[in-house]
Amino acid sequence: MKIHEYQAKEILERYGVRIQRGTVVENGPEVAQQVADAFDHWGGTAVVVKAQIHAGGRGKGGGVKFVTSKEAAIEAAQNMLGMTLVTHQTGPGGQLVRKIMVCEALDLAREIYVGIALDRQLGCPVLMVSAEGGVEIETIAEERPEALLKLPIDPLLGLQAHQARRAAFFLDLEGAQIKQAVAFLSSLAKAFLELDCEIAEINPLVVTDQGDIVALDAKINLDSNALFRHPTEAAMRDENEEDPKEVDASRFGLNYIALDGQIGCMVNGAGLAMATMDTIKVHGGSPANFLDVGGGATEEAITEALRIIFSDDQVRGILINIFGGIMKCDIIAKGVIGAARTIGIDRPLVVRLEGTNVEEGRRLLRESGLDITPATSLDEGARLICDAVAALA
Ligand code: GDP
Ligand code: MN
Repeated sequence: MKIHEYQAKEILERYGVRIQRGTVVENGPEVAQQVADAFDHWGGTAVVVKAQIHAGGRGKGGGVKFVTSKEAAIEAAQNMLGMTLVTHQTGPGGQLVRKIMVCEALDLAREIYVGIALDRQLGCPVLMVSAEGGVEIETIAEERPEALLKLPIDPLLGLQAHQARRAAFFLDLEGAQIKQAVAFLSSLAKAFLELDCEIAEINPLVVTDQGDIVALDAKINLDSNALFRHPTEAAMRDENEEDPKEVDASRFGLNYIALDGQIGCMVNGAGLAMATMDTIKVHGGSPANFLDVGGGATEEAITEALRIIFSDDQVRGILINIFGGIMKCDIIAKGVIGAARTIGIDRPLVVRLEGTNVEEGRRLLRESGLDITPATSLDEGARLICDAVAALA
């Protein structure tokens, strides 16, 4: 689960990490007054107005403005709130700005990169630091890997003091900053491990003109499967920032991820869902989503799943691929028929059913009078739907 910068900063502050502080302002009639108050509160000479959306690269997209008067701060805030901010991480559609953060302005002597992420090859979290902050880490890793130091973190022991010192030396920090950096990195690692984070990235971490080490930006992604252990962080979820189809799906316990292809998929089992997406690719199509309806989906959940798939305008055809083990084929068939009757089938639909109660399931579909193309294997199903969609073009 992603959270906003201001929420990530709240968490880090709790862990004793020094952050660039700020005031959150939501869209509404009070904006001008709230921004004016925040301007005074943070020193009365300059502030940074920052759009709060679940995507990075805001600076380049016009979502971060350094202003030196109250009037300019209010103007920047009013322009930003309600705007659709497009960055390289939002996709071309952009993201609506509903909240901003009016931050204390800092004088930056240096910008540094610090991040902790799960390394799937090493099977543990890895601390990454680079003296080249503000730049995207993927670019540094690719073009100048020697500018990036990676240190694996033992999940039981946490980041060791000698590792934090090594990182500080690698960043060419000196004197009192080394001690500050060690404390900063240790707290960041502690937060990462205790809160089951997937990513905790500070880009940039800055050294101010006064010599302080401050997190100017903060990005934290939490492991959704571990949120039950962290109610405070779970409450930080902002459904406005998520794909509405995914929000709907999660209400019905459906494991759904929106993609940008044309063929909607409804499958039971994550492995079979992946195989279905691969097979669609093999036949020249592209999946519009990942959807695992699970082993025990009800007729209602099946109906909902189809409604979500059909609500996606990019979907030009649908493949249902069910191997009924725990899930029974007749339940699937009833769900499909129910959904088809209520929402109407206006696009090609191929159904491959196999397993428990398959004969009953096929009979229900056949006798439903609905325009459904049956398939007997995954390969045939994928080929049929790809051909049908290609024929539409
Ligand atoms: P992002 O573009 O979404 O990653 O947003 P950031 O929070 O990282 O801000 C983008 C850039 O704005 C930073 O890399 C800084 O260069 C600049 N910036 C943000 N706050 C300040 C500030 O207080 N002082 C100065 N001088 N620059 C700032
Ligand atoms: Mn940033």
